[in-house]
Amino acid sequence: MLKLPPFNILRPRNRDELNAGIAGCKDEFKFLGGGTDLINNMKKRLYPAASLISLKRVEDLSFITYDQERDQLKIGATTTLTDLAAAPEISNSIPAIAATVATIAAPPIRNRATIGGNLCLDTRCYYYNQSQSWRQLAPICYKCGGDICNAAPGAKTCRAVFSADLPPLLIALGAEITIASGGDTRTIPLADFYTGSGAKPNVLQANEYITAITLNGCKNKKALYRKFRLRKALDFPLAGVALTFDDNPNGKFKNLKIVLNAVASGPLTLAEAALKLDGKAFNDADAIQLAVEAAMAAAAPIANVGSKPFYRKKMIGLLLKKMAAELAAEQEA
Ligand SMILES: Cc1cc2nc3c(=O)[nH]c(=O)nc-3n(C[C@H](O)[C@H](O)[C@H](O)COP(=O)(O)OP(=O)(O)OC[C@H]3O[C@@H](n4cnc5c(N)ncnc54)[C@H](O)[C@@H]3O)c2cc1C
Ligand code: SF4
Repeated sequence: MLKLPPFNILRPRNRDELNAGIAGCKDEFKFLGGGTDLINNMKKRLYPAASLISLKRVEDLSFITYDQERDQLKIGATTTLTDLAAAPEISNSIPAIAATVATIAAPPIRNRATIGGNLCLDTRCYYYNQSQSWRQLAPICYKCGGDICNAAPGAKTCRAVFSADLPPLLIALGAEITIASGGDTRTIPLADFYTGSGAKPNVLQANEYITAITLNGCKNKKALYRKFRLRKALDFPLAGVALTFDDNPNGKFKNLKIVLNAVASGPLTLAEAALKLDGKAFNDADAIQLAVEAAMAAAAPIANVGSKPFYRKKMIGLLLKKMAAELAAEQEA
């Protein structure tokens, strides 16, 4: 069994205590959400952090509100995945969020895991998510400060896989996130949060944390997320597809957004594939085939998680086809 290294932990109860804790932290530190990924990674000695600052008790970071008039949904960063899935504000406005949460890990993990932690989930790789003694058998790779990639020899950069399930759907829905540091805050589109780099998947600076996620104008959007995984009961995605479009009675894609998951080092927004389908009927086989080909061409998996790259590419096409078929069947019913 892997043991945790010694570490300090701060548990601030409000923003003042949080900011004071951040300012006073002399060592390298990490923010702690539910700890369902971070604690495992610390056991594997993946981070040098000697201190953790828990966000869980900070009073104004856990909430869900829906402003009907503005059609605006706001979710606090430490809201647990269980609370997110159970909230009527979610099921009444964007049920696809609850359906996606249901595919993440398992109920005991979702009881602790937070949406903020999901958005900030580290990228994954067979050669990285291993114990320290295992990793010492292989040359030090980009993600650990070295200058090679063990998974893709010759690669110029780390290509660890982005595996968080909520971000692709939230990006397709046009989500924004609020980031705080000290007394300052900034709001950016979630799409701009991700760098596409396996070594540093998001733009957060060391003292920055996410406070909230905002979704505007989603009431009339249809959203879906489907993922391929080896174990249906509990597993990270090996390929995933998120779709959103304007809900309409005509059985057509309108303002379609497609975002792929787990086939690159960040969520992959597909402009070309979406264009092939936009304005087309859910059962337009030719348009679907063109979009499937464009999506498969954009997916760039490598052999560093539990399924072969060619198969994961194939699954991207299959998921997209199945989603269109599902929508067509729903339309006919
Ligand atoms: C067995 C198992 C199966 C899993 N399956 C899935 C799966 O299918 N899909 C999936 O998406 N995930 C999966 N996970 C990963 C994880 O449980 C979830 O992604 C979860 O949402 C992470 O949230 P957390 O609050 O526990 O994050 P933590 O572990 O606390 O933190 C994760 C990272 O986010 C940072 N962080 C946390 N909150 C913030 C914040 N507000 N601002 C800035 N940084 C922050 C931390 O510093 C850390 O780097 C699985 C985990 C396990 C153990
Ligand atoms: S993709 Fe390459 S560089 Fe990145 S963690 Fe894996 S082996 Fe290391």
